[in-house]
Amino acid sequence: MPELPEVETIKKQLADLVVGEVVERVEVRREKSLRGDSRLIEGRKIIEITRVGKYLFFHTDKRTGIEGHLKMTGRMIVANGKEYETAKHTRVVMHFRGGKKLYFWDVRVFGYLEIVYDSRQQESKRTQKIGKEPWDLTHAEFLTLTQRYARPIKNLILDQALISGVGNIYANDALWKARIDPRRPANSLKMSEAKLLLLALREVLERGLATGGASDNSYVDALNKRGSYQDEFLVYRRTGEPCLVCQNKIARVVVGGRGSFYCPRCQK
Ligand SMILES: [Zn+2]
Repeated sequence: MPELPEVETIKKQLADLVVGEVVERVEVRREKSLRGDSRLIEGRKIIEITRVGKYLFFHTDKRTGIEGHLKMTGRMIVANGKEYETAKHTRVVMHFRGGKKLYFWDVRVFGYLEIVYDSRQQESKRTQKIGKEPWDLTHAEFLTLTQRYARPIKNLILDQALISGVGNIYANDALWKARIDPRRPANSLKMSEAKLLLLALREVLERGLATGGASDNSYVDALNKRGSYQDEFLVYRRTGEPCLVCQNKIARVVVGGRGSFYCPRCQK
């Protein structure tokens, strides 16, 4: 599932590729993938692409815009190649006046593009409902957050309403970096541990951004290129492989329904 670094990568590329383009028409190949009335976006010029958590927004020269979410397997590809034109899982094609096309491709069909009447208002609605990103949280705010909950720390950092943008990959790797067992009750974290974890979250997300994200599953960026963070996973999906610090075998447990990978020796 695309996480913050992957969605941010796509946002930056879309800003280069479609800002200034005028929407000619929207071709819907699968009803479920396009919400709202696509005619409202025809003739509108894209002026800005923004991101809130994992939501992407296409703002136009009028109020009408688009909210998009990739969910599990979504892709937004800007290309003229034949591959996505004929791909089975291409769900929506946005045609621009100059001939450019944006393909919304999605195997599982949980992702969507939604035509919204007021994209700025929709953006602020989303902003209010989700937590801050690790870069915007202060150490004190993060500590306060952890002390409020007794559930496992890993569940807390995955809860988008509390902290936004962290998904399973980066949560696992950050907990390993901070040497914290994913099952630890959040409110058992000491101030020093909370500080380390917040720094670790920022570090792994920055690494994700620098490598263009993780393509261990179906993720590719807007240019149809894979990221390379999967080549440097710290613990994620490394069950049975040696810990990069102590050589002990990485173990897997399920925490809050999600596969969790950790070093039983390093993480307490
Ligand atoms: Zn270890």
